[in-house]
Formats: sequence, C-alpha cells, structure tokens
Amino acid sequence: MHDFKYKRNELYCESVSIGRLAKKYGTPLYVYSRKTFLDHYRKLEDAFRSVRPIICYSVKANSSIAILRTLVKKGAGLDIVSGGELFRALKAGASPRKIVYASVGKTEQEIEYAIKSNILLFNVESLAELCAIDRIARRLRKRQSVAIRVNPNVRAKTHRYITTGHKQNKFGIDIDTARDIFLNRREFRNLDISGVHLHIGSQIVDAKPFIRAIEKLVRFVKDLGSRGIQVKWFNIGGGLGIIYSGERPQTAQEYAKAILPLLKRLDSRIILEPGRFIAGNAGVLVAKVLYIKEAPGKNFAIVDTAMNDLVRPSLYEAFHEILPVASKPYKGSGKIRKYDIVGPVCESGDFLGKDRKFIGLNHGDFLAVMSAGAYGYSMASNYNSRPRPTEVLVEGNRARLITRRETYSDLIRAEV
Ligand SMILES: *Cc1c(COP(=O)(O)O)cnc(C)c1O
Repeated sequence: MHDFKYKRNELYCESVSIGRLAKKYGTPLYVYSRKTFLDHYRKLEDAFRSVRPIICYSVKANSSIAILRTLVKKGAGLDIVSGGELFRALKAGASPRKIVYASVGKTEQEIEYAIKSNILLFNVESLAELCAIDRIARRLRKRQSVAIRVNPNVRAKTHRYITTGHKQNKFGIDIDTARDIFLNRREFRNLDISGVHLHIGSQIVDAKPFIRAIEKLVRFVKDLGSRGIQVKWFNIGGGLGIIYSGERPQTAQEYAKAILPLLKRLDSRIILEPGRFIAGNAGVLVAKVLYIKEAPGKNFAIVDTAMNDLVRPSLYEAFHEILPVASKPYKGSGKIRKYDIVGPVCESGDFLGKDRKFIGLNHGDFLAVMSAGAYGYSMASNYNSRPRPTEVLVEGNRARLITRRETYSDLIRAEV
C-alpha cells in the first residue's frame, strides 16, 4: 500500500527513520515517499494502458515543485485550477501541451497567461467564461482548444463539501446548455471546442457514481457524433478515494475494469485527473507532543502542529490515523489511554484526532499523522501567524529538503 512501516519499533519512510528526520528538521514536518507517489501513478498508468490516457496529476492535491517534477519526469501531465498553479507547473518543467485548466472563476489575467503559455485545454465551467476565453484569444490572435465541463447531476457519496457533480454544486455546465454550445460551436471563432470534461467530487470509494456520470457523458458524446460533431478529448476527472481508516476504495484495476468498457465505445483520447489517489498515502505529517493535559474525563495531547498545517480534520471532520513514531502502535492489549490530539491554535475546531488510543504519551514524543500527502501542505495557512512547515522527500535511504520551514520574516514579506 505505502512505504511507511515499522522496523524494530520505529516508524520509517522507505529506508529513513522518521524520528531521525524529525530531530534533524524539527516539527511540524511533512515527510513524503517518492516511491509511493510513483507507485500510485504507475498503478493508474497500468490499469488504463489499453486506452493510453494522458494522466494529468491534480496539482492542488500537493503542489510542491519537487513533487510535480517527479511526476512530470515520468510523463505526467498536470491539472491546474489557477494562474499560480500554472506558474508552478511551468517551473516544474511540465509540457504545456499536457496542462488542463479547470476553475469556475478564471480571471482575465489568468486566461491570458494560460493562452500565452499554450496549454492543451481549458475546462470551461460556464457560457460566460466560454465567451471570455474566445474574446481574449481573439485579442491575442490565437486559437485555443477548450473542453466543456459538464455537470452530470449525479450524487457522489462523499463529504458534502467535496461533491462537485450535482446540479446544486457550482461546477460545470448542464447537459442541455453543453449541447447547445457544441451545436453553435462555430460562433466561437477563436475556440476549438473539442473536449468534454467531468469531475464529480473527491474521496469517492465506489465505482457506481463514476459509472453513472461517465455513461451520461458517453451518451452525450455519441449523440453529438450522430450530428457530425467529433469530440477529441474525453476527460473523466479525478476523485478516486484512498484508505484513511476503514475505507475499502476500488483499486485502480477495479476502477478501470468498471469504466473501460464505456470509454472504449468512444473515439476520443482519454484524460484522467487523479490527485488524492497519487499523493494521499505518500506523505505523513510529523508532530511533537508539547504538553499532556489531564482534564476531568478527557486527556489532551497538545502538539506543536495544528489546523493551519493540516486543515482536513477541522474542515471536513476527516479521519487521519495517528501513530507513535518511536514505538509500536496500540494493538488492543496492555494499559491504554485515550487522548484528543490538539494543536495550539485558538479554535476549538483545532484538532488532528479525537479519542485516540495510545499506550501512553509523553512530552517530546513524535506522532505521525498518516495519509497527509494530499490536501495537507497545499491547504496549509499562516493562521495564528504560524510559519508553514518543512517538507522532506525521501528516496530510498536519502532524504532531501524540498521546502524549508517559513521564517517570521516570510510571514510579513508581502506587507507594505
Ligand atoms: C481537485 C480536482 C481533481 C482531483 O481530485 P482528487 O479527488 O484529488 O483526485 C481533479 N479534477 C478537478 C477539476 C479538480 O478540481
């Protein structure tokens, strides 16, 4: 599954002791396994080999340039959602011809930057945006390829903040409007409307909502075909769920087996946009216990790591397993204690885990918050004027600093 394992009662990332890294670099500290990133990328590549898709890794899951570069070198394209992500993608050496750009609110400046950078496709989320891209392309004397992001109106069983393919979500264009756009595509003189896109949400563990959404879109594309309109690109988005605790997500093979029969009815090139599936299990966040507080009916382990470093528990009530770095985890025997693992931020929502069992925690212990590789550092903030953490990338028995800890001067560098 991943490359974080105990050896002689110590947690390792590949062949490097996480405790040693925590002492060397300090905490909070993100530790990533290069091998896990690449293994997950290859799993999708293998599963979909028969349709030779472009796999556009979703930059927002983990945007560190070193990680983007690792994937880009293996042939990955990138899925971006802002001008800032385009900047990172280009810094990482991504080919613009493998960059696709979704977002409901692309600004004029961002659209111009992306057109000038020759990206492969915009995933367009409204008629107004389509008109804007056409107008800007005309001003730049360019022709731009775009895909229409269709909102298939399906419910994905996941947290309500991360479903995106239902008609009540802000994403995509309803299927009837999308059809009108294709039928009237010649009116957009500087656009090549040549693709369809969908992305129905995130952390989806079951193939059914994907199948329902893709079936709808295949029918849509077939219908366009019968009217003489060819759709060159068919982008099925991301959203594949991973294991945080007891989930049993479909594997890449199962996912491919369920949807390849649908995709094979098309003549289009396939694009995938996995984020969490590639990055989620590839990283941990290491925290240090500062204080143990025993209140009536409750034990708190107060750590130096908080919601600003990893917001998922606070934002989505997401569960992350929390393991001791320098001893075997609790396995149901021996004397145990339960702790809420909380950070220093002045919010009651600032916790990493609740009622977690340990054999006993002490000041100075390191804890690893597992499966923090996706939507971890990329969602980190400076709330409470906390510098953002360090990031280290492990490859075999080597560990490389990829993002240094922010300093207090970094906190105020944009202030005038
Ligand atoms: C966030 C996002 C993804 C990636 O989602 P995951 O659940 O991390 O796979 C893919 N496509 C689009 C358009 C996105 O916004």
